[in-house]
Amino acid sequence: MGRRRRRVVKIVKKKLPSIFTCPVCGEESVKVILKSGSGKASIQCGSCMMREELTVPRSATMVDAYCIFTDKLHAHAKSTES
Ligand SMILES: [Zn+2]
Repeated sequence: MGRRRRRVVKIVKKKLPSIFTCPVCGEESVKVILKSGSGKASIQCGSCMMREELTVPRSATMVDAYCIFTDKLHAHAKSTES
């Protein structure tokens, strides 16, 4: 009997990372929470408890928010080191 070959359902959705590396403690435990509609994002590290709230473009993804956060952090680090 011609049993239908089991179809492998491939999820083609682009896999976006949801956990990021913490620029403070280096652990992969940073969560980005986008508050859709408000243009705000929360960045939280589950390891060192670093927390930051950012203003992001409304169209920003978690990756964008993370990039904005690291940029800001680096810019800050630069301005404090002399
Ligand atoms: Zn951390």
